[in-house]
Amino acid sequence: MAILVIAEHDNQNIKTSTLNTISAAQKISDEIHLIILGKGIEALVNKAKSIHVLSKVLKCDNEKLENLLPEISAPVIASVSSNYSHILAPASTFGKNLLPRISAILDITQVSDVIEIENENTFIRPIYAGNAISHVQTNQKINLLTIRPTSFEKCEDSGGDASIEDVTYVETESQTIFINREVSKSDRPELGNARVVVSGGRGLENSDNFKLLYDLADKLNAAVGASRAAVDSGYIGNECQVGQTGKMVAPELYIAVGISGAIQHLAGMKESKVIVAINKDLEAPIFNIADYGLSSDLFQAIPEIIKELDLLNQIES
Ligand code: FAD
Repeated sequence: MAILVIAEHDNQNIKTSTLNTISAAQKISDEIHLIILGKGIEALVNKAKSIHVLSKVLKCDNEKLENLLPEISAPVIASVSSNYSHILAPASTFGKNLLPRISAILDITQVSDVIEIENENTFIRPIYAGNAISHVQTNQKINLLTIRPTSFEKCEDSGGDASIEDVTYVETESQTIFINREVSKSDRPELGNARVVVSGGRGLENSDNFKLLYDLADKLNAAVGASRAAVDSGYIGNECQVGQTGKMVAPELYIAVGISGAIQHLAGMKESKVIVAINKDLEAPIFNIADYGLSSDLFQAIPEIIKELDLLNQIES
């Protein structure tokens, strides 16, 4: 049977998290369909049909789906579910909001935050903030899975020619209405997709000092993240929180500055390829997982690193 992947998108582009989820689907079957919901999604659907491994793109284009309210989207996806053995969504805010509602409609248990697929019925997921790994076997008719995007490489997004099929909109009574969306704008890369992430913790002491991290991030074309302590103290917005209750990231390079390395923080970044820690306390647990550690006062170390990077840039140009 085919597998259905639910597309996360911003009306312009399919998000990378969807490409990671499609890669996870490839571990189960060769027949993968993508469903895109929204309003005015013609161009998006045409882009998506060239994703290499897809055989079909399902689309439901309706003005009521403009803001992708999960209460309104879930019945549409549930209406096509009987054609599929597995329905996958990214374990992002989008997927975590939507899949439980489909699960409730279908009366099927969802398996969340899958990091590995052992076989079509057995899935591996972290529990206790990543301190234990559980193997979950299910014998349900349809498997509903949220996939942790950082655990799967993104699939090729070109070279394919999938067919397109319309899905009928399902009228739903919902108490939820869309009022407003506030999107934080930044010239820096998006935290979830950045190649380099520079994260700051309570050691930064206040929001003004975060400017040091922004300067460093600009030199490295990096996204800026933070620990929950820094977010709770109001040094930086909560969209920047990395960890168990924040974003999961797995960049090529993660630089943790003034972060102790609590398990809840590690849960969100320990899959990063190279981890650098800057902390004045040599006993800080972050050093246990760091590939490179600098035991130093950050207020001394970061300006020096920025100076060195400037020098390097001058030599290169
Ligand atoms: P601290 O632990 O206070 O560490 C600050 C570090 O800065 C210290 O190691 C110190 O040596 C160093 N430092 C201080 N001054 C300097 C200096 N001048 N130069 C260099 N180093 C310096 N946390 C998250 O991050 N993300 C989550 O998603 C998250 N979810 C949670 C969920 C739950 C249910 C719970 C209970 C907790 C969660 N936490 C989360 C909180 C977590 O337990 C820690 O409290 C938090 O990560 C600590 O943040 P921190 O490392 O910035 O602060």
